[in-house]
Amino acid sequence: MTDLHRLSIRELAEGLSQAKFSSRELTEHYLQRIAKLDSQVKSYVTVTPEQALAEADAADAALKAGNATALTGIPLAHKDIFCTKGIKTTAGSKILDNFISPYDATVVEKTKAAGLVTLGKVNMDEFAMGSTSESSYVGATSNPWALDHVPGGSSGGSAAAVAADLAPFATGTDTGGSIRQPASFCGLTGLKPTYGRVSRFGIIAYASSLDQAGPMARSAEDCAYLMNVIAGHDAKDSTSVKKEVDDYVANLSNTSVKGLRIGIPKQYFNVVGLDADVKARVEESLKKLEEMGATLVEIDLNMTEAYVPTYYLIAPAEASSNLSRYDGVRYGHRCENPADLMDLYKRSRSEGFGPEVQRRILIGTYALSAGYYDAYYVKAQKVRRLIQQDFLKAFENVDVIAAPSAPTTAYKIGANLSPTEMYLGDIYTLAVNLAGLPAINAPVGFDKDSLPVGLQLIGNYWSESQLLSIVHQYQQNTDWHTKRAAIAEENA
Ligand code: GLN
Repeated sequence: MTDLHRLSIRELAEGLSQAKFSSRELTEHYLQRIAKLDSQVKSYVTVTPEQALAEADAADAALKAGNATALTGIPLAHKDIFCTKGIKTTAGSKILDNFISPYDATVVEKTKAAGLVTLGKVNMDEFAMGSTSESSYVGATSNPWALDHVPGGSSGGSAAAVAADLAPFATGTDTGGSIRQPASFCGLTGLKPTYGRVSRFGIIAYASSLDQAGPMARSAEDCAYLMNVIAGHDAKDSTSVKKEVDDYVANLSNTSVKGLRIGIPKQYFNVVGLDADVKARVEESLKKLEEMGATLVEIDLNMTEAYVPTYYLIAPAEASSNLSRYDGVRYGHRCENPADLMDLYKRSRSEGFGPEVQRRILIGTYALSAGYYDAYYVKAQKVRRLIQQDFLKAFENVDVIAAPSAPTTAYKIGANLSPTEMYLGDIYTLAVNLAGLPAINAPVGFDKDSLPVGLQLIGNYWSESQLLSIVHQYQQNTDWHTKRAAIAEENA
């Protein structure tokens, strides 16, 4: 079969359970596509064919024996931030170039337990700090829609792999937009769950109070399947929440779009730098939802201007603390011939961390230092609370809030934005993490250069089912999510 990569997760599950094809055939199909096409996309850091085929054979055995789960035998790719036992986990950093984790992240453990087949680990910005995936020490990943453009970041490898049909779906993490923005840039659906919904155990930490893992796929339905596997409490992550997990697949049609109140924040649509095509596509998608019965309600989110400065204080502060563990002593990159312990620390870290990571460690260390702590860090925490309250107030009147996921479509590789220019591109995604809310990106069309545009829907706490359901129904009435980049149409 040459077109296995065109099947949705539901179709793959049906095909496997009806023995129309085996997991081995499906896995080989994807491995062949990766071998043929990934030299152009560069989405994978590590491909694991042997392990994948062994997992596929085990899946086929389980399917035959009748003890398969809904997803047994379906391949996926993991962002290289999830620890994988026996397989290198780099987080896109030279400092972890030789790091092989002795254990699996809970998310990885769960995908394995569900019978999913790991194709490999995909590229990302170094320690998930960035919006283009260019800061990875292995180099840039291409956007399948235009190979001279970035796929977004930091989960750019996940997005590019799925958009090029080099994986049926993938995991990502989102600290300030890293699932939603690359999903937007690559024409995919991506869900950032409520903080605490998915375990962070075994995910290389960037900013612990903001990090959250989620699915990236072609459709809300495909995302729902992966959410069913990865969501839930984990005793190994004290911030994961003991709360019943929805059946996200069963709930896909449960939210009524008729009568749904969608908040349109006035402040969001007058942002300097909001591309005219992005604005137009997002407004068209909202019109469509209105035709489907939703009511658009203008709302105020008065804290908008505080998002970027607040996030870019808190995230680096937490990063500076989290990244202090990379000292060249226990694991990771170590400099040659250290003169003494101080030299070992200094040179291992200077050689191992790239410029963006070093910048954030410096900013974060400064913000946390005695004398500046109250003025910067404590103040940012207070503003963070105001941002959360702003949302809670809005949710008294509306069910979900609509926004673009990013003010522009994908940048050119090497555009070399200044740090502040790049940070401003995160304006629409950061607040969701600061408040701990769930949000989803859905593809809603293209700009004048045929690059994908994304709509973001932000929900109240624990509304993942609702968000997936709204997007699912939108996708039943539109076909943007079915569009494929030219490279995805190529056969291996
Ligand atoms: N672009 C943002 C940053 O650079 C968000 C990254 C993320 O969500 N991991 O921090």
